[in-house]
Amino acid sequence: MELREIGRDVYTCLQEDRGLGTSNSGLLNRGGGLVVDTFWDLPHTRDLIAQYARVWNAPARRVVNTHHNGDHCWGNQLFTGAEIIGHRRCAEAMLKEQPTLLQILRGAADSADPAMAAFARALASWDFTGIELTPPTTLVDDRLDLDLDGMRVELLYVGPAHTAGDLIVHLPAERIVFTGDVLFRLCTPIGWEGTYERWIAALDRIAALQPAVVVPGHGPLCGVEGPREMKAYLTYVRSESRRFFDAGLPALEAAKRIDPGPYANWTEPERIVFNVDRAYREFRGEPFDTPVDAMAMFAGMFELRQARGGA
Ligand SMILES: [Zn+2]
Repeated sequence: MELREIGRDVYTCLQEDRGLGTSNSGLLNRGGGLVVDTFWDLPHTRDLIAQYARVWNAPARRVVNTHHNGDHCWGNQLFTGAEIIGHRRCAEAMLKEQPTLLQILRGAADSADPAMAAFARALASWDFTGIELTPPTTLVDDRLDLDLDGMRVELLYVGPAHTAGDLIVHLPAERIVFTGDVLFRLCTPIGWEGTYERWIAALDRIAALQPAVVVPGHGPLCGVEGPREMKAYLTYVRSESRRFFDAGLPALEAAKRIDPGPYANWTEPERIVFNVDRAYREFRGEPFDTPVDAMAMFAGMFELRQARGGA
């Protein structure tokens, strides 16, 4: 992971995109300190804290979680005594997650089911032991404005886009936005609870803020080209999905047939399985928070990777 200064008293800690879980974090080193997102397990979050300790005088007093996915909040407990801030729906969803289940799945590398074994291998560099879910207790509805010794910070609700409780963190004077997983950069997104319409609106809103630096939830730093390109991806996948939906094809078959086009070079293009399935749920008129069968999606991704000659 790499610590970078992106503005006065503003830092980001970037994890190189190596697939599942390699998320980014931020530090606003003012007014007692505010951390944007922790990491997926305790060892990686300890490393994150060691990076931030190079520049802060004391551990941050506040943590903001952009959403409830574990790779953004399962290290929360290591910020002892910090005020944890998040959207109301983020807090609700966080308690439904099960780190112990992921630890069991991680141990299934010898499974006879090749999709399960591949999933276990993808988790090999993580250790989910000891995690105590520590959800936000300061809850945001529409927005929350903070003043960190003169640094204006806007926490803006943009969900349900990537998840039900998506917050972005906007620093208007510094022209910086931390997007959480509303934006994946040069890697294929996965959508959970939300709609295409709201997700695209969230990306438009980020671009409208005219940031000079955008810190995505995953992938390298970018400018407004990041949200614009991801909007184009979502628009493309939704319209291609519609075509195959109208033709009566199952979602997985559609995912196999959609040409990844200019997005073939994004990492993990097979994640399109999640995105086609989400489009189909919308076309069927299902609510935005219909539970996602994640293991079936990962099995579909495995099948697609095989079909394209991958490992
Ligand atoms: Zn993430």
